[in-house]
Amino acid sequence: MKIALTNTLTRRKEPFVPADPARVTMYVCGSTVYNHPHIGNARPAVVFDLLFRLLRHAYGETAVLYASNYTDIDDKIIKAAAAEGVAIDVITNKFTRIYREDMSALGVLTPTFEPRATQHVDGMIALIQKLIDEGAAYVVPSGVYFSVAADADYGKLSGRSQDELQAGARVEGEDDKRHPSDFALWKATKPGEPSWDAPFGVGRPGWHIECSAMIAAQLGQTIDIHGGGLDLIFPHHENEIAQSESAHHHPLSRVWMHNGMLTMDREKMSKSIGNIVTVRELMNDGWQGEAIRWALLSAHYRAPLDWSEDLLKQAQASLDRLYGALLRLKDVKADDAAAPEAFLAALADDLNTPAAIAALSVLVTNANNAKKPAEQAKAKGELLAAARLFGVLAQDPERWFRASFGEEAAREIDALVAERVAARQAKDYAKSDALRDALAARGVEVMDSAAGSTWRRRG
Ligand SMILES: [Zn+2]
Repeated sequence: MKIALTNTLTRRKEPFVPADPARVTMYVCGSTVYNHPHIGNARPAVVFDLLFRLLRHAYGETAVLYASNYTDIDDKIIKAAAAEGVAIDVITNKFTRIYREDMSALGVLTPTFEPRATQHVDGMIALIQKLIDEGAAYVVPSGVYFSVAADADYGKLSGRSQDELQAGARVEGEDDKRHPSDFALWKATKPGEPSWDAPFGVGRPGWHIECSAMIAAQLGQTIDIHGGGLDLIFPHHENEIAQSESAHHHPLSRVWMHNGMLTMDREKMSKSIGNIVTVRELMNDGWQGEAIRWALLSAHYRAPLDWSEDLLKQAQASLDRLYGALLRLKDVKADDAAAPEAFLAALADDLNTPAAIAALSVLVTNANNAKKPAEQAKAKGELLAAARLFGVLAQDPERWFRASFGEEAAREIDALVAERVAARQAKDYAKSDALRDALAARGVEVMDSAAGSTWRRRG
């Protein structure tokens, strides 16, 4: 299988060639665990989960090593812990668990490695010391800073010139750094903050150094793919490159991939604007994880995605169609088929999910049109193989439709369907027709077969 990926570093779509096909490495910047993940946080998790699945399909399940971190030491975490009067790990343990639960609900596989920053502080200290020894970093009273002037390559990912960088933002408490673009590797300790001993003073790590240290510890000094949201290109990823490459003297990652931003009414989702929707709120409103996943994958990952209730309704309708086909073929044993070429080719082409969704739709049509048992078994097998690579159709179809109506409504529907079966057995066709109409009014279609009657949402 030939995979092509758009590389932010070269600004081109390129054939993907891992250094070692038996050990494919990918890192994606993870979550800062101090509150509920919102739907914008979920987008990179779902997008890179799909890439993880595709790489496993192409290179083998055990050949792909995927690391995504938890940032569990940070200003926002310290603030949240202080506000509740608890230790920071009370906050970070709680929200790490919630993050994992929410992502599992969206079909996100557990990455091979999920390093937590506080477990890698020794590696960060060693990396910072190396940068000081190499003359790429310097120590001042407020902490240790990376010297942007010492790095001729600085700005290559974001394409920012040294002149643009001169206008770097002033950060409070960093008055003693030498250049406005220099960034903190280590922050000198402040009263009440968690801190670690280091040869260059007691303190805590900056954000950027966490990823550089965790990548080196879990995957190696050069990896195949580094991913994250578009908003991380500058300064976070630029700084990761500066740190890792100044210390190790070879490329941090061959391919850099960035997903587009998720917006709400065309505005970026952010706490300051107050337009945040969390994954948990959507699930509490009755949306199923697969519908949220489908909505997140409905646009190409590099494009912006404007979130709305309509987007979710469309995702629900698309999945209803897939589950409806499975329900119709409930009694057919699926072939052990491979995902068809058109579907795989769409994903392999820079994760073209709109084209992959179109290919899935063709597979549903095939499944619905198949008449002979052998055709049905093949069509069902192909649909399941493709859908499972996409991370959907993990549920029993009857459960899917029940959950999409809610359990109370599903029980009422069950009762009406049973009443209709009884009416048919009693040859009371007027009553049976009236019940069918009543069910149709609720948006339910009854499907009768030799094995009994099942129901689904009307398409
Ligand atoms: Zn990172």
